[in-house]
Amino acid sequence: MRIWTNIRIASPIPSILSSLLRGGDGCGIIWLWDWAVDMETIRRICAVLESEYGRPKFVRRGGANDGPLDELILTILSQNTSSANYRRAYAGLKARFGNWDEVRHADAAEIEDAIRSGGLAHIKAGRIKQVLNDIHALRGSMSLDFLADMPDREAREFLMQFDGIGLKTASCVLMFSLGRPVFPVDTHVHRLSQRLGLITSAVSAEAAHDILQAMIPDELVYSFHVNLVTHGRRVCKAQNPRCGECELLSLCPYGQRRMANGYAG
Ligand code: SF4
Repeated sequence: MRIWTNIRIASPIPSILSSLLRGGDGCGIIWLWDWAVDMETIRRICAVLESEYGRPKFVRRGGANDGPLDELILTILSQNTSSANYRRAYAGLKARFGNWDEVRHADAAEIEDAIRSGGLAHIKAGRIKQVLNDIHALRGSMSLDFLADMPDREAREFLMQFDGIGLKTASCVLMFSLGRPVFPVDTHVHRLSQRLGLITSAVSAEAAHDILQAMIPDELVYSFHVNLVTHGRRVCKAQNPRCGECELLSLCPYGQRRMANGYAG
């Protein structure tokens, strides 16, 4: 059972204490001590990012009329590839088939052919067909629009019952299609959150979802996610982050250590 807390703290607590006291997967408790920074720091990071990249307006990534099922397929296509690639693959899929029921009935090879430009086409084609079949078997229709009437947590759990749909994908569906303040942690967000000291280096991307969710004010969730990803792609790359030209340096323990060691970036 997962216990959701909504407690806010006002002062930093050493991460060593967090490491000692963090709950294991078995109990699923979000420990108060996992929070290494206060909400004011989150707001400051968010403000710096918004001054760099602007406050992103909510847009549905695949198109204004897309619903949760469209976003689910788009998110599957986005795994381990660039934005340009998955958008091309999504457009290819939409151009080839009239609706998701047609995709469900299509040969996996035909789906694979339509999404080839997105990379990992064989795996993703199988995953898409499987999830469409699973949704149809459970609901008797090809729609996830009913998620709009569910509370965030219930909607997230519903999506995660399907094979291959984890916290990140479920959170993306809720945030990008329904505008819910549900924070997805992808590889960029995870890396930056560790470097900025929002979570300790021991916290997995999976575990980071609930920890960061509890730290970030709802009204900042979308902006924080979108701008962290942008910053991760442009400046705070996995290899050779450009700390010397990063506007977040004064708020970033990792970047400051790196600069002290002579890596200007
Ligand atoms: S200072 Fe360096 S490590 Fe920190 S956010 Fe900026 S680029 Fe990333």
